[in-house]
Amino acid sequence: MSTKYVYTFGDGKAEGKADMKNLLGGKGANLAEMNLIGVPVPAGFTITTEVCTDYNKLGKDAVVAMIKEQVEAAVKTTEAAMNAKFDAKDGSFPLLLSVRSGARASMPGMMNTVLNLGMNDETVKIIAEKSGNEKFAYDSYRRFIHMYGDVVMGVEAEEGHHNPFEVVLDELKEAKGYKVDTELTVEDLKVLVEGYKAVIREHAGVDFPTNPWDQLWGSVCAVFDSWNTERAILYRRMENIPSEWGTAVNVQAMVYGNMGDTSATGVCFSRDAATGEDQFNGEYLINAQGEDVVSGVRTPLEITKVGSLRWAERNGTSEEVRQAEFLSMEEAMPELYNELDTIQQKLEDHYSDMQDMEFTIQDGKLWMLQTRSGKRTGAAMVKMAVDMLEQGMIDAKTAILRQEPNKLDELLHPVFEQSAIDAAKELSKGLPASPGAATGQIVFSATAAEDWAAAGKKVILVRRETSPEDLKGMYAAEGILTERGGMTSHAAVVARGMGKCCISSAAGVLVTGTSMTINGVDFKEGDFISLNGTTGKVYEGKVATITPTLDGDFGKLMDLAENNTRMYVRTNADTPADAQTAREFGAKGIGLCRTEHMFFEGDKIWKMREMILAEDLEGRKAALAKLLPVQREDFSGILEAMDGFGVTIRLLDPPLHEFTPNDEASQIEMAEKLGIDVSIVKAKVESLHEFNPMLGHRGCRLGNTYPEITEMQARAIIEAACDLKAKGKDPKPEIMVPLIGTLKEFKMQEDIIRETAAAVFAEKGIKVDFLVGTMIEIPRAALTADAIAEYAEFFSFGTNDLTQMGFGYSRDDAGKFLPIYIEKGILKHDPFQVLDQEGIGQLVRMGCEKGKSTRPDIKLGICGEHGGEPSSVEFCNSVGMDYVSCSPFRVPIARLAAAQANLKQN
Ligand code: PEP
Ligand code: MG
Repeated sequence: MSTKYVYTFGDGKAEGKADMKNLLGGKGANLAEMNLIGVPVPAGFTITTEVCTDYNKLGKDAVVAMIKEQVEAAVKTTEAAMNAKFDAKDGSFPLLLSVRSGARASMPGMMNTVLNLGMNDETVKIIAEKSGNEKFAYDSYRRFIHMYGDVVMGVEAEEGHHNPFEVVLDELKEAKGYKVDTELTVEDLKVLVEGYKAVIREHAGVDFPTNPWDQLWGSVCAVFDSWNTERAILYRRMENIPSEWGTAVNVQAMVYGNMGDTSATGVCFSRDAATGEDQFNGEYLINAQGEDVVSGVRTPLEITKVGSLRWAERNGTSEEVRQAEFLSMEEAMPELYNELDTIQQKLEDHYSDMQDMEFTIQDGKLWMLQTRSGKRTGAAMVKMAVDMLEQGMIDAKTAILRQEPNKLDELLHPVFEQSAIDAAKELSKGLPASPGAATGQIVFSATAAEDWAAAGKKVILVRRETSPEDLKGMYAAEGILTERGGMTSHAAVVARGMGKCCISSAAGVLVTGTSMTINGVDFKEGDFISLNGTTGKVYEGKVATITPTLDGDFGKLMDLAENNTRMYVRTNADTPADAQTAREFGAKGIGLCRTEHMFFEGDKIWKMREMILAEDLEGRKAALAKLLPVQREDFSGILEAMDGFGVTIRLLDPPLHEFTPNDEASQIEMAEKLGIDVSIVKAKVESLHEFNPMLGHRGCRLGNTYPEITEMQARAIIEAACDLKAKGKDPKPEIMVPLIGTLKEFKMQEDIIRETAAAVFAEKGIKVDFLVGTMIEIPRAALTADAIAEYAEFFSFGTNDLTQMGFGYSRDDAGKFLPIYIEKGILKHDPFQVLDQEGIGQLVRMGCEKGKSTRPDIKLGICGEHGGEPSSVEFCNSVGMDYVSCSPFRVPIARLAAAQANLKQN
């Protein structure tokens, strides 16, 4: 049998169906399906996506020859279903067609469409006569010539010129003194038809084709061509749509909503896409075409009476005015409304999902033009799934798999009021480093942030980049804006941990000490700005925000996830408050406590600096003795907040220079505070300088050169745990050695930890269970994980450093080229955000496998930023990790992603 290239639908029959999306595209498959379930759809046919692939290989002529016979047969079927004739010469009613693209995945607005195809000097006359509406007929004709000229013949504005069709229209309107297109008379429209044809002749060098078959082939090929336009290619790259998929072409009989007052057109949703409420809603216009509803030329009206009443209330429109001018479809066309209502319910039941539908009423007859699963907000996504589960429409598995985990973010952070953001002026765009909305006054230092916040002001901390010294200011601020830094910069990681909005690497932003310019405009301390950390956009002035509430549906969804997951979720947290937040979101333990963050609170930093400045072991020990009670208290706080769950505490990791000030004023302050000469401070800062600190004296290299630091931290952890246990608590410390590359590096640290613990147990006469394990974040550690697992009781994959060292990309400097790499398609994603499964993933998989080969019950987890990113979480499940760990506000996302991974992989 020869290959089938064309699938017809119409009159309650269809050759395709819903599950043929790959072949027929989303639109084509649903048009077929609607026919099969008895929904009125204008007849037509779909040319398959495979033809598009052939078209790209074989070219236009070969493909037209290949499908010609099948297309001609399909046109005949369409003619019969619609009781009209394509290329009508015998006076029968002309069949006019629309030609639209329709890929497997929706690519809204990316490809070409031609409407009113089949119009020419003869058919327009028959349509004028048969419809009794000459103006409508000529208006459709001139729109067709314009659209065809533009889409198929490539007649468009030349550089620096206006669109030639618009020029002709504008000249006519000006000559006649018209303001709007609706003032055009039939005679004007006839003049336009001739004018537009002349435009085509002049610009394309050939005549506008009057033969409908030429028009059809021109349009079909134009849709295929539009698969490979620059914008379509870019969109596919952004949305990860393979270029081999190709688009289908849907050819369908035209129906008209603009044939008078018994015609209308509209868009509707079976549930509320913004809130998820189970309420049919939408907009329509009488005597209008589809584009009028969406273009904003006329104000569309509500479909339901409920919607109309709500709209009037929001707008302050009186009931009298509403009834006179803004009647809902339910009131204005009750019978057609009932028919539409029945159909929307039928479609929702059939697809078991919220439907986004387009319809047209032509002279009292309702036609459905499209249905698809509707886009929705995070809140609506959750509510709809829970409602549909409770209504028995879907099962738990579907409810979970239908979620887009990242969208939960919207439920967890403040967002801007829509009307406020619509009116706001955009100043810049940077990396969306941490989601949420923030508005406040600019401050340029952590101290100012603290002071202003203490005085009750809302502030945005603006820095060139942040360092641990800025922590207190970040806490005090509503949001953080930095000139530099990527998605794993200090500012980004810390802000996500705090659940605070942050934008990094903002374009055009220059920060110099206590002032900033954005694209040359000055901003000073106290000026208001607003940040949308979800989009990376920076706005001028105050923009009103709302804090979404986590209602019952959210909790129900999390329970569903809990019952369907294998991995559990921990959090990366350094304070009891963050641990508590994460626990409320369902975190079961801490996967990473970065102890260095604890030193920046209050005046702890001075004790740390004293230790760093000490000249010898004696001096260091004296300073560490002062740090011990401080650290003990810190550890006690987080162990207690996570009582009963494992708490992974990492030994000191960053290079020591991060604890010393770089600017002279702070160095003088430090000298005064410690009672030493500023030259000593300067000399120390100088000596700590490294060319590549990320590859320098950090991680376990500190603990192995200064074992007394490890000893102090181990003691503080074990003492805190013993004290809690004595109080009847259940602390579960897990001590983690950072940045090891060799077994010896680990073993030496482990010995210190175990000896210290034994000493503390003896002193206190009490014992606690604890684990000693390591980060796997250096490629060599992954390669030798079997040896390391002989001693390490757990592995936590530090995929931030593993990515840095595996790719050889500096975490701090990659922002300079990564965006270009992604734009050029060298990389699909920023590997610091989305785990590179192909490369770095191999190191992770190998680490897991080798670890288990030596110690089958080794505890495996991840604590790099990828632990909260859905596709990476899925990967972690596939390599057999026990848990993922992420910042507190990503815990629900990770929980959902973990459940999805389990359901998909089982
Ligand atoms: C990592 O490297 O993935 C990690 C969690 O450690 P840090 O980001 O603190 O270097
Ligand atoms: Mg690391």
